[in-house]
Formats: sequence, structure tokens, C-alpha cells
Amino acid sequence: MVIVLKPNPDPQQLAALRSWLAAHDLTVHDSVGVTNTLLGLVGDTTAVDIEMLRAMSIVQDVRRIQEPYKCANRKMHREDTVIRVGNATVGGGGFAIMAGPCSIESEEQITAVAKAVKAAGATLLRGGAFKPRTSPYAFQGLREEGLKLLLAAGKETGLPVVTEIMDISQLPYFDEVDVIQVGARNMQNFELLKELGRLKKPILLKRGFSATLTELLMSAEYIMAGGNEQVILCERGIRTFATDTRNTLDLSAVPLLRTMTHLPIIVDPSHGTGIRSLVKPMAVASAIIGADGLMVEVHDHPEKAWCDGQQSVTPEAFADIAAACRAVLPHRCREEMNA
Ligand code: PEP
Ligand code: MN
Repeated sequence: MVIVLKPNPDPQQLAALRSWLAAHDLTVHDSVGVTNTLLGLVGDTTAVDIEMLRAMSIVQDVRRIQEPYKCANRKMHREDTVIRVGNATVGGGGFAIMAGPCSIESEEQITAVAKAVKAAGATLLRGGAFKPRTSPYAFQGLREEGLKLLLAAGKETGLPVVTEIMDISQLPYFDEVDVIQVGARNMQNFELLKELGRLKKPILLKRGFSATLTELLMSAEYIMAGGNEQVILCERGIRTFATDTRNTLDLSAVPLLRTMTHLPIIVDPSHGTGIRSLVKPMAVASAIIGADGLMVEVHDHPEKAWCDGQQSVTPEAFADIAAACRAVLPHRCREEMNA
């Protein structure tokens, strides 16, 4: 439920309304707009008498939110959520670029890639330490050691780091990680999402292989309901009958999610296609359709990569991709949802 307040509400009446809501076990999320402030109510609102609220002189309107996702809902928070991490910003019309190898392989590799992507305009450094692999016989990531190497490369370049967590038991290693990634395979690991909801740091939530957008937002809701509102959504392709690409990159998810939620939305064209030559066109398309950023796999020697070499681009190719995206930003088609 959302209460739209009249402009400049009387402070005493507002305080009375807040204590009434608190007494009904409702949590209030304020969304301060240019003219109106919205009070988003989370909790069991079935017993709330809408007409009684509407009759209050400081209240302009009261609306029920039908969708099952409440905190993530655009109706609850009209303005885009903007997430600041280090010197990077994700959401609100900018274009964040997370780049780095699929997996961290050595100090030399992560340091070389970090410096190269930074020079090319990346705003965050990605790298997998705990790797979700289809085969238990495949390289599982350097784990704690990989995290240390990633954090060192992040410090050296000044880039905030983003890396994947696979299980609650790994959380103690993530203290210094700037953005915690939840991968496609864990999008509905609800216990993990609840735990991440207790943190005060940004979470990058990737869409599951077969998840609808509503399911993606319900997973974001698990994190937000716990008090952590810093969620970045990532479209990374879904499973369809089309097997010529690794996944089917659902770019329509970007403008559609934009209407559904205030959270930032980025695109991963690397996992979304699985084919190196498709990364640039899909990255540029993402920029054009108004995505808030990208996640791109970059490797200094893709042919020797321990994981996902076929979709990794060289630092030179990444520089070209980042420049091509920047070139189209002034022409992007990004619906202004804040009005
Ligand atoms: C990744 O980003 O390294 C990854 C494993 O992605 P996804 O969860 O989208 O497969
Ligand atoms: Mn990968």
C-alpha cells in the first residue's frame, strides 16, 4: 500500500500518522519526490481502512499495490534507486561497466586485466573466486585465495570489486567485497537471499535461467524485506529452445523491468550469448535501450582462460566495446519513469 501525501504536510499530523502505522506493525519506506512524498507500507495491510486514511487532511491518495513485490515496486519508490559504491554509481541514468575475468587465475592475470579494464573505462572490477560449475570435475575457482587477489587488484586500481557468493558459509570471506553477486543458479536460494538482506552492501542479483521477471523481483524482495535496499538486477540470458547461443539474451527485460521496479538494471552480454563476437553488438544494444550498465568478461589471453574463454574478450576488444557504448549513450532510449 502507498500513501501519497499532500505537499508540505503538517509535521504533527504526519507524526501521528506514523505512530498509527507503527502501532499496526507496518514498516514505512519514505520516497521523497519533487512535489509529493510517498509512504510505502510493508506488512499486512489487509486490516487497514483505506477510507480512514484518505479522510486525513495530509493525505492526497492511498493505493494498494497488487503486485507481490512491494519494496522493489516502482509504485513504492517513483525515483530510480541509485547505488554508490566507491567511485562508481549504478542506476539513475549513468552507465556502469563491470569488467574482468570469469575466474581469477593468478595475481598476474587479475592485476593485468584490472589495469587494462580500468584504462578502458570500467567502473567496477569483476572476477569469480567461488565458481558455480556444471561439472564437479571442472575448475572450482581459487576460492579464498582468489578473493584476496581480487581485493588486491581492486585496491591497486581503485576499482570497487564484484564477486559471486555461492553459500552462506562463505560470507565471512566477503567483508571487504564491495558488491556481492548472486548468480543465476542461486537466484532462488532464499536462505542466502535472506542473509544478504541483513547486510548493508550492494547485491548484484542475476536472473535465473528460467525465471520470470516477477520471480526475479520476488528474489530482490527477499533481500530488500530484510532491510538491504541496495539491489542491482542483471539480465544474463535465459534458457529457450534456441541453442545456437549459450542463452537467449532477453533484452526486452530491461525496458519492461524499468516500468516494474526502481532498481538499477544491468546486462551481461557474455553469459547472455556465450559467443565473443556477439558481446559488442549486445553491449551496444543494452546501452541504447537504457540499461544502467554492463557486466563483461575480459581475459588477457581468452584462448587460455580456465573458464568461459569462448565468451571472453581481450582488453583491446573491451576498450572498443566500452567506447562504442559511450558513443551511443547520448542517443539512448531510456524512458523517464520519475514523473
Ligand atoms: C558469472 O558471472 O561468472 C556467472 C557464473 O554468471 P551466471 O550466474 O549468470 O551464470
Ligand atoms: Mn563466466
